[in-house]
Amino acid sequence: GAVRTPLIAGNWKMNLDHLQAVAFVQKLHWTLKDAKHEDGSVEVAVFPPFTDLRSVQTLLDADKIAFALGAQDLSTKDAGAYTGEISGAFLAKLDARYVIIGHSERREYHNESDDVIAAKVQAALRHGLTPVICVGETAEDLEKFGASAVPVGQLEKALEGVPADTEIVVAYEPVWAIGSGQAATPEQAQDVCAKLRGVIGAAMGEDAAARTRVLYGGSVKAANIASFMREPDVDGALVGGASLVVDEFASIIRFQK
Ligand code: PEP
Repeated sequence: GAVRTPLIAGNWKMNLDHLQAVAFVQKLHWTLKDAKHEDGSVEVAVFPPFTDLRSVQTLLDADKIAFALGAQDLSTKDAGAYTGEISGAFLAKLDARYVIIGHSERREYHNESDDVIAAKVQAALRHGLTPVICVGETAEDLEKFGASAVPVGQLEKALEGVPADTEIVVAYEPVWAIGSGQAATPEQAQDVCAKLRGVIGAAMGEDAAARTRVLYGGSVKAANIASFMREPDVDGALVGGASLVVDEFASIIRFQK
């Protein structure tokens, strides 16, 4: 929709150390000179590992690079005896604008429940971070329940207690499409993204539903981004593998509908 600025978000996962991160962001910036993100018609965000955030923040600030910064996770807690955890306060202090919450890899490998994910959404909001709430069905869920039941239920739980005026981003990421090379069809993505927008409306009201970006994620590439962006309820993409290749990610950012 025209009222929503498209968001192209690169989730690096556990790739690129802080020196590689700086080199990568510089290259991406130079490749994109004169691109749409400069005039604000597309927003670009990068999600490096925690240990890269300070270096990337310094570079973005020093060279006035118009990428938003995000983290891949945060703690449910704000401070204290929680060895290994990262507070949203620390992320906010590094100018992180976004934080990914509930990625399928966190749900699967770290057993993150819908309750933990809802607590992380609240933690992000306490620190002024915009949560990028990830939901999606596994191949098994798809067979048993169809595409939308699981992501709809996940989002309903994540949005409990989220006030109407809050900025959030939702990412529909079918687990079977992540890193598989087998993206959903644009029609499948549209169908579920529209239903997720309905969940936002029910939880937060129609204004929130109209202004909130709902992204598609799962094997997005330069070759298929335009087909997703043509769908009315798909407002951008959460990109894994292809966000680590400068020319490919730049082409995704430059999508033409
Ligand atoms: C992801 O993990 O968020 C993702 C979308 O990965 P990929 O683009 O590699 O499928």
